[in-house]
Amino acid sequence: MMGLDPLFGDWAYRALTFLVISCPCALVISIPLSFFAGIGGASREGILIKGSNYLETLSKVKTVVFDKTGTITKGVFEVSGVHHSDRDEAEIIEYAAHAECASSHPISRSLVRRYGKEPDRARVKDIEEISGHGVIATVDGVSVAAGNDKLMQRLGVEYIPCGSAGTVIHVALDGQYAGHILISDLEKEDVREALAALREAGVTRTVMLTGDAESAAKQVADRVGIDEYHSGLLPGDKVTIVEKLIKELGGSGRLAFVGDGINDAPVLSRADIGIAMGALGSDAAIEAADVVLMDDDPMKISRAIRISRKCLRIVYQNIVFALAVKLVCLLLGALGLAGMWAAIFADVGVMVLAVLNAMRALDTKRV
Ligand code: ADP
Ligand code: MG
Repeated sequence: MMGLDPLFGDWAYRALTFLVISCPCALVISIPLSFFAGIGGASREGILIKGSNYLETLSKVKTVVFDKTGTITKGVFEVSGVHHSDRDEAEIIEYAAHAECASSHPISRSLVRRYGKEPDRARVKDIEEISGHGVIATVDGVSVAAGNDKLMQRLGVEYIPCGSAGTVIHVALDGQYAGHILISDLEKEDVREALAALREAGVTRTVMLTGDAESAAKQVADRVGIDEYHSGLLPGDKVTIVEKLIKELGGSGRLAFVGDGINDAPVLSRADIGIAMGALGSDAAIEAADVVLMDDDPMKISRAIRISRKCLRIVYQNIVFALAVKLVCLLLGALGLAGMWAAIFADVGVMVLAVLNAMRALDTKRV
């Protein structure tokens, strides 16, 4: 019988060293942990991220597209006047508020609030809401249409355009023009700072999309200092523009769309990453979005991007660190220069260090 090779013990020892070093637990444990920590840290700030893949996409965002109503503005309209009407202001508001009583659009809610009473739904029939246009309904047997220029054109009603800045709700009663209600919305206080913070976080293009008229869009865009805006859009047009913007990025960055889900849920799901306003936003928005901002604060968009970048940075640090230590130890182990203690360091030691590094992703204060 042949005896064992005198070097057998040596090779067995090296093979075991190799096995221990090559154990991938540092990567397997620290990478998911970094993502969990990132998602956890973000949610503590009121930013809900629905998955680790969205963290990765967020970190590459270069273009941010905003919806106007409810996202850049508060979505709380004040009525500034009723123009070109022979009827009583209160009567026009009463008709409009009743026609709008079933809609969850910020404009509808504001008209109902202005009316001051709970609309009597028994007086309203045949409500039809046409997205990006307005509503048509029968109130007390009178057919009421309330909406923008496009709605009036669609119904073939002659309307008087409004010279004042703001959002205009034309009202037609039984097919006759009955004047318009001028309403205006306020921008959220910190949109300007939020846009500056986005630029600082590496976002190169900011765009506002709205179904509202040019004059109202321009006024808001100028006040908050957004790079560009597109107005008069239907929900479908918003998707077309977002697709064009994604093409213009050419794969070198990602596009985020921020909206409240009212007339923009299709865009929220089409964008590389959809960010919804959680408080004002509709259920459809929260469903369609990848990221939900619980308090509707636009400042949180740049926070989310920064948190995602930090998280990804930690993930890459861990990958490079673990692989580098393991490669060096494998090489030394193969040459017989690294023993079992080095192997244990390359396995458990690196794992512990990588986990400690991953825990930094929880700390969202320093990003
Ligand atoms: P945004 O893009 O600013 O969020 P929308 O797409 O929701 O705005 O609506 C675009 C425009 O369509 C509004 O500015 C308004 O003129 C009209 N509109 C939409 N819904 C209604 C409604 N329920 N009542 C009256 N007008 C409406
Ligand atoms: Mg909207």
